[in-house]
Amino acid sequence: MAKDGTEYDYDLFTIGAGSGGVRASRVAASHGAKVAVAEEYRVGGTCVIRGCVPKKMLVYGAHFAEDLEDAKNFGWTISNPKFEWTTLRDNVLRDVDRISGLYGETLENNGVEVFTEHAELTGPHEITLVSGKVVTARYILIATGARPHVPDCPGSEHGITSNEAFHLDALPPRILIAGGGYIANEFAGIFNEFGTHVTIINRTDTLLRHYDESVRDRLLQISTMKGIDFRFHAEFRGIERTDEGCLKVSMTGHDDIEVDCVMFATGRVPNTEGLGLDKAGVELGDKGEIVVDRFSKTSVDHIYAVGDVTGRVQLTPVAIREGHAFADTVFGDNPTAVDHQCIPAAVFSHPPIAGVGLTEGEARNTLGDVKVYQADFRPMKNVLAGRNERGLYKIICNAGNDKIVGIHMIGPEAPEIMQAAAVAVKAGLTKADFDATVAIHPTMAEELVLMR
Ligand code: FAD
Repeated sequence: MAKDGTEYDYDLFTIGAGSGGVRASRVAASHGAKVAVAEEYRVGGTCVIRGCVPKKMLVYGAHFAEDLEDAKNFGWTISNPKFEWTTLRDNVLRDVDRISGLYGETLENNGVEVFTEHAELTGPHEITLVSGKVVTARYILIATGARPHVPDCPGSEHGITSNEAFHLDALPPRILIAGGGYIANEFAGIFNEFGTHVTIINRTDTLLRHYDESVRDRLLQISTMKGIDFRFHAEFRGIERTDEGCLKVSMTGHDDIEVDCVMFATGRVPNTEGLGLDKAGVELGDKGEIVVDRFSKTSVDHIYAVGDVTGRVQLTPVAIREGHAFADTVFGDNPTAVDHQCIPAAVFSHPPIAGVGLTEGEARNTLGDVKVYQADFRPMKNVLAGRNERGLYKIICNAGNDKIVGIHMIGPEAPEIMQAAAVAVKAGLTKADFDATVAIHPTMAEELVLMR
């Protein structure tokens, strides 16, 4: 029985069991709510099934190509190393199954009922499952995530997206990846390390536009050195399958190119269609995302939305925080708004990039007077390996009060180092605080406290 005297089947019905939906459902249940969740594909969502987790495993697998080569100068003889794509693919998919199972168990252990089917809103408090079952809930949470955008061009059906990349039967000898964001650059690195010839095409001449310019330029330089081809200011005209079974891609501003696989990494679209949101009166933004307030409440009082479907910051830890905050707000008697400022992020390219806070450009535009400290160095391991690859760390300070407003890095293990450095930036520490910290030697991270 709800507080308003109405009987509902559930206190909360969540649509989508991904990062945000699973966290919200579990925490709501732990606050004593009766919860059900519908998942039309697999419990775990994008991150676990076809995003962060399997992607990072492929990144690890790919990096062995460099490690095995570098091992020679460290005295190791490794004769005739061979890579078997299907072994890595199957091991990754097996681990994905394991983690998805753990997510299912977590829901079950918390008393959350799981419907493995499509769900949509059919009334203000009513949800209809594809099996025909109709249920009611006092609160509804939309956590349906996003899906890859596929450009509208002739022959686009010949292309794949990141969803399919994890299931390829064999590695393509040549791949064209469309896009300039983190997914395009990460998969370019993965395929390139496995020996596939990679061409990236991008509509503009800017890769990874939310990252600091010097760090982006360094990735472009290193990626080019590793053999990845870039074509800028190129837009798809069409894709044709040739008699030999290859794909001929035509684009603006460049010659046609023949490849064996085309992968679209051209952004992600919020999953808001076919959910009955219009009938429920839920307001959508320009890009189809659900508009929410600081507490993730939509334009309808008892309907909330978290994660990628809201188009705020499309990252797993953000979806998880939003889901947790929603559950605490609505069922834990503890109104909690997620702070979207100063979110650290990474690109698992080869080498990886990580950043937190303002880029140098953003700091100059918003603060005016900034101080920039920079360490441009060749990591010790690369020197001995004979690998001509330099790391770059940047600290951006507000010159007025010495506060660090941004840190940006490219180099081995940059995301691991950044997680700790981001605490300092979030806490508003100054350059003097960094200077006062003794270095750990010899590390790459010590550069952060040695910049003068
Ligand atoms: P999702 O995890 O997408 O979950 C939504 C779920 O809803 C899905 O399982 C879907 O099947 C289900 N669903 C949709 N509609 C319905 C319906 N009508 N009925 C029932 N179920 C429905 N983020 C990071 O932080 N770090 C990374 O390294 C990273 N790498 C990524 C790599 C790739 C290739 C991709 C694609 C994404 C990556 N992300 C990464 C982003 C991250 O995966 C997402 O931000 C995160 O999964 C969003 O969580 P969510 O709960 O909003 O949605």
